[in-house]
Amino acid sequence: MASNTKPGRDHNPQCSTLEAMDKTPEQSPITTGEDASHRFIFDDADIRGEIVHLKTTLHEIFAVHQYAPAVSQLLGEFLAAAVLLSSTLKYEGKLILQARSDGQIPLIMVECSNLQQVRAIVRGAEHATSADFGTLLSNGQLAITVDPTNGQRYQSIVPLGVESLAHSLNDYFEQSEQLATQFWLTCDGEKAAGMLLQQLPVSATPELSQRDEQWQHACSLAATTKSGELLTLSAEQLLHRLYHEDPARMFDPSEVVFRCTCSRERTLGALATIDPAELQDILLEQGKITMDCEFCNQQYQYSEDDISKLHASQKEDREHRTLH
Ligand SMILES: [Zn+2]
Repeated sequence: MASNTKPGRDHNPQCSTLEAMDKTPEQSPITTGEDASHRFIFDDADIRGEIVHLKTTLHEIFAVHQYAPAVSQLLGEFLAAAVLLSSTLKYEGKLILQARSDGQIPLIMVECSNLQQVRAIVRGAEHATSADFGTLLSNGQLAITVDPTNGQRYQSIVPLGVESLAHSLNDYFEQSEQLATQFWLTCDGEKAAGMLLQQLPVSATPELSQRDEQWQHACSLAATTKSGELLTLSAEQLLHRLYHEDPARMFDPSEVVFRCTCSRERTLGALATIDPAELQDILLEQGKITMDCEFCNQQYQYSEDDISKLHASQKEDREHRTLH
Protein backbone atom coordinates (compact mmCIF):
# COMPACT_ATOMS: atom_id res chain seq x y z
CA MET A 1 0.00 0.00 0.00
CA ALA A 2 1.01 3.62 0.32
CA SER A 3 4.59 4.21 1.33
CA ASN A 4 5.01 7.93 1.69
CA THR A 5 1.68 9.03 3.04
CA LYS A 6 2.38 9.40 6.71
CA PRO A 7 2.63 13.04 7.56
CA GLY A 8 2.03 12.74 11.26
CA ARG A 9 1.92 10.67 14.35
CA ASP A 10 -1.74 11.15 15.04
CA HIS A 11 -3.06 11.38 11.53
CA ASN A 12 -3.03 8.82 8.82
CA PRO A 13 -4.06 10.40 5.53
CA GLN A 14 -5.25 7.00 4.38
CA CYS A 15 -7.87 7.08 7.10
CA SER A 16 -8.85 10.53 6.02
CA THR A 17 -9.16 9.34 2.45
CA LEU A 18 -11.37 6.54 3.65
CA GLU A 19 -13.58 8.93 5.53
CA ALA A 20 -13.66 11.53 2.78
CA MET A 21 -16.39 9.66 1.07
CA ASP A 22 -18.55 10.47 -1.81
CA LYS A 23 -20.86 13.28 -2.51
CA THR A 24 -20.03 12.92 -6.20
CA PRO A 25 -22.39 13.47 -9.06
CA GLU A 26 -23.83 10.21 -10.28
CA GLN A 27 -22.24 8.61 -13.31
CA SER A 28 -23.59 5.80 -15.35
CA PRO A 29 -22.04 2.44 -14.53
CA ILE A 30 -19.68 0.65 -16.88
CA THR A 31 -21.27 -2.38 -18.45
CA THR A 32 -19.97 -5.74 -17.33
CA GLY A 33 -22.93 -8.00 -18.05
CA GLU A 34 -22.16 -10.67 -15.50
CA ASP A 35 -22.59 -8.83 -12.23
CA ALA A 36 -26.18 -8.10 -11.41
CA SER A 37 -28.91 -8.30 -8.85
CA HIS A 38 -32.36 -9.62 -9.65
CA ARG A 39 -35.47 -8.68 -7.77
CA PHE A 40 -38.45 -11.00 -7.57
CA ILE A 41 -41.82 -10.95 -5.87
CA PHE A 42 -44.42 -13.59 -5.17
CA ASP A 43 -47.85 -13.07 -6.66
CA ASP A 44 -49.78 -14.55 -3.74
CA ALA A 45 -47.57 -13.68 -0.78
CA ASP A 46 -46.22 -10.45 0.67
CA ILE A 47 -42.62 -11.44 0.17
CA ARG A 48 -39.93 -10.05 -2.04
CA GLY A 49 -36.58 -11.53 -2.90
CA GLU A 50 -33.30 -10.51 -4.40
CA ILE A 51 -30.55 -12.63 -5.93
CA VAL A 52 -27.10 -11.20 -6.61
CA HIS A 53 -24.16 -12.56 -8.58
CA LEU A 54 -20.70 -10.97 -8.61
CA LYS A 55 -17.66 -11.93 -10.63
CA THR A 56 -16.02 -9.06 -12.52
CA THR A 57 -16.51 -6.83 -9.49
CA LEU A 58 -14.57 -9.27 -7.34
CA HIS A 59 -11.78 -9.60 -9.89
CA GLU A 60 -11.43 -5.83 -10.10
CA ILE A 61 -11.33 -5.44 -6.33
CA PHE A 62 -8.83 -8.29 -5.95
CA ALA A 63 -6.69 -6.73 -8.67
CA VAL A 64 -6.16 -3.75 -6.37
CA HIS A 65 -5.36 -5.80 -3.25
CA GLN A 66 -4.50 -9.44 -2.85
CA TYR A 67 -5.89 -11.09 0.23
CA ALA A 68 -5.61 -14.54 1.78
CA PRO A 69 -8.20 -16.90 0.22
CA ALA A 70 -10.47 -16.95 3.26
CA VAL A 71 -10.32 -13.16 3.51
CA SER A 72 -11.24 -12.83 -0.18
CA GLN A 73 -14.15 -15.19 0.29
CA LEU A 74 -15.44 -13.26 3.25
CA LEU A 75 -15.05 -9.98 1.38
CA GLY A 76 -17.10 -11.49 -1.45
CA GLU A 77 -19.87 -12.31 1.01
CA PHE A 78 -19.75 -8.79 2.42
CA LEU A 79 -20.06 -7.39 -1.11
CA ALA A 80 -23.03 -9.61 -1.92
CA ALA A 81 -24.63 -8.67 1.41
CA ALA A 82 -24.13 -4.94 0.82
CA VAL A 83 -25.81 -5.17 -2.59
CA LEU A 84 -28.73 -7.10 -1.08
CA LEU A 85 -29.06 -4.65 1.81
CA SER A 86 -28.92 -1.64 -0.48
CA SER A 87 -31.71 -3.19 -2.56
CA THR A 88 -33.98 -2.76 0.47
CA LEU A 89 -33.48 1.03 0.44
CA LYS A 90 -35.69 3.25 -1.61
CA TYR A 91 -33.68 6.44 -1.88
CA GLU A 92 -30.47 7.84 -3.28
CA GLY A 93 -27.37 7.38 -1.23
CA LYS A 94 -25.11 4.62 -0.12
CA LEU A 95 -25.02 1.76 2.28
CA ILE A 96 -21.86 0.90 4.20
CA LEU A 97 -21.36 -2.49 5.76
CA GLN A 98 -18.40 -2.54 8.09
CA ALA A 99 -17.04 -5.05 10.57
CA ARG A 100 -14.40 -4.42 13.22
CA SER A 101 -12.97 -7.22 15.28
CA ASP A 102 -10.20 -8.46 17.54
CA GLY A 103 -9.68 -11.36 15.15
CA GLN A 104 -7.47 -11.82 12.11
CA ILE A 105 -9.47 -9.21 10.19
CA PRO A 106 -9.44 -5.97 12.18
CA LEU A 107 -11.50 -4.12 9.59
CA ILE A 108 -13.57 -5.05 6.58
CA MET A 109 -15.68 -2.46 4.84
CA VAL A 110 -17.92 -2.46 1.81
CA GLU A 111 -19.91 0.36 0.26
CA CYS A 112 -22.77 0.06 -2.18
CA SER A 113 -24.55 3.03 -3.72
CA ASN A 114 -28.13 3.06 -4.92
CA LEU A 115 -26.67 2.71 -8.44
CA GLN A 116 -25.06 -0.53 -7.23
CA GLN A 117 -21.57 0.84 -7.51
CA VAL A 118 -19.45 -0.96 -4.95
CA ARG A 119 -16.01 -0.60 -3.45
CA ALA A 120 -14.38 -2.46 -0.59
CA ILE A 121 -11.35 -2.63 1.66
CA VAL A 122 -9.87 -5.02 4.21
CA ARG A 123 -7.33 -3.65 6.66
CA GLY A 124 -4.73 -5.40 8.72
CA ALA A 125 -5.45 -8.95 7.54
CA GLU A 126 -2.02 -9.59 5.97
CA HIS A 127 -1.39 -12.46 8.35
CA ALA A 128 -4.84 -14.01 8.33
CA THR A 129 -4.54 -17.79 8.22
CA SER A 130 -7.88 -19.03 9.43
CA ALA A 131 -10.86 -19.98 7.29
CA ASP A 132 -13.18 -19.82 10.26
CA PHE A 133 -15.59 -16.89 10.43
CA GLY A 134 -15.46 -16.71 14.23
CA THR A 135 -11.64 -16.57 14.20
CA LEU A 136 -11.37 -14.07 11.37
CA LEU A 137 -13.85 -11.73 13.03
CA SER A 138 -13.72 -12.79 16.66
CA ASN A 139 -15.38 -10.48 19.14
CA GLY A 140 -16.55 -8.43 16.19
CA GLN A 141 -19.10 -5.77 15.64
CA LEU A 142 -21.05 -5.15 12.50
CA ALA A 143 -22.07 -1.62 11.59
CA ILE A 144 -24.69 -0.98 8.94
CA THR A 145 -24.69 2.65 7.90
CA VAL A 146 -27.18 4.26 5.58
CA ASP A 147 -25.98 7.53 4.15
CA PRO A 148 -28.69 9.18 2.05
CA THR A 149 -27.63 11.85 -0.45
CA ASN A 150 -30.28 14.10 1.06
CA GLY A 151 -30.97 13.38 4.67
CA GLN A 152 -29.61 12.16 7.92
CA ARG A 153 -26.99 9.43 8.03
CA TYR A 154 -27.87 6.65 10.43
CA GLN A 155 -26.07 3.62 11.73
CA SER A 156 -26.96 0.37 13.47
CA ILE A 157 -24.28 -1.55 15.31
CA VAL A 158 -24.75 -5.21 16.18
CA PRO A 159 -22.43 -7.87 17.58
CA LEU A 160 -21.18 -10.38 15.00
CA GLY A 161 -22.01 -14.00 15.63
CA VAL A 162 -19.46 -16.76 15.25
CA GLU A 163 -21.15 -18.70 12.46
CA SER A 164 -21.34 -16.52 9.40
CA LEU A 165 -22.16 -13.10 8.05
CA ALA A 166 -25.58 -14.32 6.88
CA HIS A 167 -26.40 -15.57 10.41
CA SER A 168 -25.28 -12.26 11.91
CA LEU A 169 -27.48 -10.32 9.50
CA ASN A 170 -30.42 -12.64 10.15
CA ASP A 171 -30.00 -12.08 13.89
CA TYR A 172 -29.83 -8.35 13.37
CA PHE A 173 -33.10 -8.26 11.45
CA GLU A 174 -34.73 -10.61 13.93
CA GLN A 175 -33.80 -8.38 16.85
CA SER A 176 -34.68 -5.10 15.22
CA GLU A 177 -38.22 -3.94 14.63
CA GLN A 178 -37.89 -4.33 10.88
CA LEU A 179 -39.57 -6.51 8.31
CA ALA A 180 -38.58 -10.17 8.61
CA THR A 181 -35.51 -10.72 6.44
CA GLN A 182 -33.25 -13.70 5.72
CA PHE A 183 -29.89 -13.88 3.94
CA TRP A 184 -27.97 -16.59 2.14
CA LEU A 185 -24.41 -15.71 1.12
CA THR A 186 -21.52 -17.51 -0.47
CA CYS A 187 -18.22 -16.87 -2.23
CA ASP A 188 -15.64 -19.25 -3.66
CA GLY A 189 -12.99 -16.57 -4.16
CA GLU A 190 -13.84 -16.23 -7.85
CA LYS A 191 -17.54 -15.54 -7.65
CA ALA A 192 -19.85 -14.35 -4.92
CA ALA A 193 -23.58 -14.77 -4.70
CA GLY A 194 -26.36 -14.02 -2.31
CA MET A 195 -30.07 -14.21 -1.84
CA LEU A 196 -32.41 -12.28 0.36
CA LEU A 197 -36.02 -12.84 1.26
CA GLN A 198 -37.96 -10.08 2.94
CA GLN A 199 -41.53 -9.83 4.12
CA LEU A 200 -43.45 -6.92 2.68
CA PRO A 201 -46.09 -4.92 4.53
CA VAL A 202 -49.50 -6.65 4.63
CA SER A 203 -51.22 -6.58 1.25
CA ALA A 204 -51.99 -9.87 -0.52
CA THR A 205 -52.30 -11.86 2.70
CA PRO A 206 -54.06 -9.99 5.51
CA GLU A 207 -54.51 -13.13 7.61
CA LEU A 208 -51.54 -13.24 9.97
CA SER A 209 -51.22 -17.00 10.43
CA GLN A 210 -51.31 -17.50 6.65
CA ARG A 211 -48.77 -14.71 6.25
CA ASP A 212 -46.50 -16.46 8.71
CA GLU A 213 -46.98 -19.81 6.96
CA GLN A 214 -46.05 -18.30 3.61
CA TRP A 215 -42.92 -16.78 5.09
CA GLN A 216 -41.86 -20.06 6.70
CA HIS A 217 -42.54 -21.88 3.43
CA ALA A 218 -40.45 -19.45 1.35
CA CYS A 219 -37.58 -19.53 3.86
CA SER A 220 -37.52 -23.29 4.25
CA LEU A 221 -37.31 -23.74 0.48
CA ALA A 222 -34.58 -21.10 0.21
CA ALA A 223 -32.67 -22.88 2.97
CA THR A 224 -32.32 -25.94 0.69
CA THR A 225 -30.10 -23.92 -1.67
CA LYS A 226 -26.57 -25.26 -1.78
CA SER A 227 -23.63 -22.87 -2.10
CA GLY A 228 -22.78 -24.32 -5.51
CA GLU A 229 -26.31 -23.67 -6.75
CA LEU A 230 -26.30 -20.11 -5.49
CA LEU A 231 -23.02 -19.53 -7.32
CA THR A 232 -23.71 -21.30 -10.59
CA LEU A 233 -27.44 -21.23 -11.28
CA SER A 234 -28.79 -18.15 -12.99
CA ALA A 235 -31.30 -16.14 -10.97
CA GLU A 236 -34.11 -17.50 -13.18
CA GLN A 237 -32.92 -21.07 -12.74
CA LEU A 238 -32.66 -20.68 -8.99
CA LEU A 239 -36.10 -19.12 -8.75
CA HIS A 240 -37.53 -22.02 -10.73
CA ARG A 241 -35.61 -24.61 -8.74
CA LEU A 242 -36.95 -23.20 -5.44
CA TYR A 243 -40.37 -21.82 -6.26
CA HIS A 244 -41.73 -23.49 -9.37
CA GLU A 245 -44.96 -24.15 -7.47
CA ASP A 246 -45.30 -20.62 -6.16
CA PRO A 247 -46.13 -17.98 -8.76
CA ALA A 248 -43.37 -15.39 -8.71
CA ARG A 249 -42.18 -12.67 -11.04
CA MET A 250 -38.64 -11.62 -11.68
CA PHE A 251 -37.77 -8.07 -12.71
CA ASP A 252 -35.08 -6.91 -15.08
CA PRO A 253 -31.64 -7.25 -13.50
CA SER A 254 -29.72 -4.23 -12.35
CA GLU A 255 -26.03 -4.18 -12.90
CA VAL A 256 -23.41 -4.07 -10.14
CA VAL A 257 -20.05 -2.43 -10.85
CA PHE A 258 -16.84 -1.68 -9.00
CA ARG A 259 -16.35 2.04 -8.94
CA CYS A 260 -14.35 4.17 -6.56
CA THR A 261 -15.67 7.55 -5.58
CA CYS A 262 -12.32 9.08 -4.70
CA SER A 263 -11.19 12.28 -6.40
CA ARG A 264 -8.30 14.70 -6.34
CA GLU A 265 -10.49 17.31 -4.72
CA ARG A 266 -11.88 15.06 -2.00
CA THR A 267 -8.44 13.72 -1.13
CA LEU A 268 -7.16 17.28 -0.84
CA GLY A 269 -10.11 17.93 1.47
CA ALA A 270 -8.82 15.13 3.68
CA LEU A 271 -5.45 16.91 3.93
CA ALA A 272 -7.27 19.94 5.30
CA THR A 273 -7.81 18.07 8.56
CA ILE A 274 -4.08 17.55 9.10
CA ASP A 275 -1.89 19.93 11.07
CA PRO A 276 -0.31 22.36 8.53
CA ALA A 277 3.05 22.07 10.32
CA GLU A 278 3.11 18.35 9.67
CA LEU A 279 2.33 18.88 6.00
CA GLN A 280 5.13 21.45 5.82
CA ASP A 281 7.58 18.91 7.26
CA ILE A 282 6.71 16.45 4.50
CA LEU A 283 6.93 19.09 1.81
CA LEU A 284 10.39 20.07 3.05
CA GLU A 285 11.49 16.49 3.11
CA GLN A 286 9.86 15.17 -0.07
CA GLY A 287 8.91 18.21 -2.10
CA LYS A 288 5.34 16.96 -2.49
CA ILE A 289 2.58 15.13 -0.65
CA THR A 290 1.42 11.82 -2.02
CA MET A 291 -1.88 10.24 -1.10
CA ASP A 292 -3.00 6.78 -2.22
CA CYS A 293 -6.65 5.80 -2.28
CA GLU A 294 -7.02 2.63 -0.27
CA PHE A 295 -9.96 1.40 -2.31
CA CYS A 296 -8.56 1.69 -5.84
CA ASN A 297 -4.84 2.56 -5.43
CA GLN A 298 -5.27 5.81 -7.35
CA GLN A 299 -2.42 8.10 -6.38
CA TYR A 300 -2.82 11.83 -5.89
CA GLN A 301 0.12 14.23 -5.58
CA TYR A 302 0.03 17.73 -4.18
CA SER A 303 2.65 20.44 -4.50
CA GLU A 304 3.53 23.11 -1.98
CA ASP A 305 1.41 25.45 -4.08
CA ASP A 306 -1.66 23.17 -3.79
CA ILE A 307 -1.26 23.04 -0.02
CA SER A 308 -0.79 26.82 0.26
CA LYS A 309 -3.99 27.35 -1.73
CA LEU A 310 -5.80 24.85 0.47
CA HIS A 311 -4.74 26.65 3.64
CA ALA A 312 -5.50 30.06 2.16
CA SER A 313 -9.04 28.98 1.28
CA GLN A 314 -9.49 27.47 4.75
CA LYS A 315 -8.40 30.78 6.26
CA GLU A 316 -10.84 32.63 4.01
CA ASP A 317 -13.65 30.31 5.10
CA ARG A 318 -12.86 30.93 8.75
CA GLU A 319 -12.83 34.70 8.30
CA HIS A 320 -16.05 34.53 6.34
CA ARG A 321 -17.68 32.62 9.19
CA THR A 322 -16.42 35.14 11.77
CA LEU A 323 -17.84 38.06 9.81
CA HIS A 324 -21.31 36.59 9.36
ZN1 LIG B 1 -10.24 5.47 -5.10
